[in-house]
Amino acid sequence: MKHKTLKGFQDILPPEISVWQHIEKISRDVFKTYGYQEIRLPVLESTDIFTRSIGETSDIVEKEMYTFTDKGDRSVTLRPEGTASFVRAYVEHHLFNNPAPQKFYYMGPMFRYERPQAYRYRQFYQIGAEAMGVEDPKLDAEIISMLSKILNSTGLEGVNFELTSIGCKNCRPAYRDALKNFLRDRLNSFCGDCQRRFDLNPLRILDCKVPGCIESRQGSPAVLDHLCADCKQHFDGLKRNLETLSVRHSINPNLVRGLDYYTKTAFEVTSESLGSQKAVAAGGRYDGLVDEFGGPPTPGIGFAIGMERIIPLIKGSMSKAEPPDLLICPLGQEAPEKGLLLAEQLRSSGIWAEVNYEQTSLKSQMRKANRLGAKNVIVLGEDELKKGEVVVKNMVNGTETKAVLEVQELKKIIKAGK
Ligand code: ATP
Ligand code: MG
Repeated sequence: MKHKTLKGFQDILPPEISVWQHIEKISRDVFKTYGYQEIRLPVLESTDIFTRSIGETSDIVEKEMYTFTDKGDRSVTLRPEGTASFVRAYVEHHLFNNPAPQKFYYMGPMFRYERPQAYRYRQFYQIGAEAMGVEDPKLDAEIISMLSKILNSTGLEGVNFELTSIGCKNCRPAYRDALKNFLRDRLNSFCGDCQRRFDLNPLRILDCKVPGCIESRQGSPAVLDHLCADCKQHFDGLKRNLETLSVRHSINPNLVRGLDYYTKTAFEVTSESLGSQKAVAAGGRYDGLVDEFGGPPTPGIGFAIGMERIIPLIKGSMSKAEPPDLLICPLGQEAPEKGLLLAEQLRSSGIWAEVNYEQTSLKSQMRKANRLGAKNVIVLGEDELKKGEVVVKNMVNGTETKAVLEVQELKKIIKAGK
């Protein structure tokens, strides 16, 4: 019987995994300089964590969630995104008692039952950040600048930062009315989902990907023209702060996010190289979400980067297999055991050493060294063991260096040759 991964799921194997680790490391380093601490959240949550916060009429909740009943008859869901789980944890552990802003990041898999296609999976990975307790747009500018720094440091090029404000609970009702007035006469030309959304959540119509709906909503009123004084001031402040930090961005008044909890700032980072799955990262403010989870009213802002979308954009230069620093080729009776020990000692001093286990000819051992791409080779024969001396052959530049069979000396030569 053949066993295969489920549709939309994938194994991530070497050498590609080194690209993942590279991005994770860069992110951790950048997060540290901005004071973000890691938080690890469960992948399984009670279903209502998501239905209430993301919104009953969102695509995620309507169609995409991995929801099932567990053996205790509870409805549970594999997390489709990080923010709802994060806010649940923030409230559950009273993290709001720490001095604001409280800053956190997470990395891990998310699950959505979507139609798998290029750059769209059913299990995908996000790196996300959340900053809590500050309403000032300087925090928005800071977190967007941090995102830009992470993406730039990974070597990602040619991405655009698109930005807008989607208002708050004070200005949204008037905007909602204006939008409904615009849509009412042409509702017939929208898809069935959008017709249903008209009463439930008309803003969602702006996010529909059906080509006919995109066409029919051309010319609809923009939320940016309906912001209340507070939201407008916040957005103006954000634009100014982004100029101060030299974060390149463009204003996209048509940007809408697929989740209900967003307020004010919303942004998306896009790349033209990914076809229709062009969002590589996205985020925004969610000033009402902590309240919704029963915590004290606390503003918050966050983003999530889609790993599978940035990896193909930087992979080319990086996904070569890593070669070992050294291959030890033993010859004769005693050498294999001595080689085993030498490799172990070198590893303790930070050298990636491999030792050939097979008792084969020198020629075939050298072939193996080439296949592995080993940076250095030591032949360990009876002579070498008797004299306590070896030759370190640098396979990259061809030089040969005599050395005493001693860990520190070998380490020095191997490091110097790097
Ligand atoms: P899209 O419009 O592409 O469906 P989204 O608005 O549903 O994206 P978010 O919920 O904002 O996405 O998630 C943040 C990021 O996570 C996206 O910008 C994207 O990079 C990534 N992402 C979302 N869904 C998937 C998926 N099914 N497969 C791979 N990456 C994904
Ligand atoms: Mg989606």
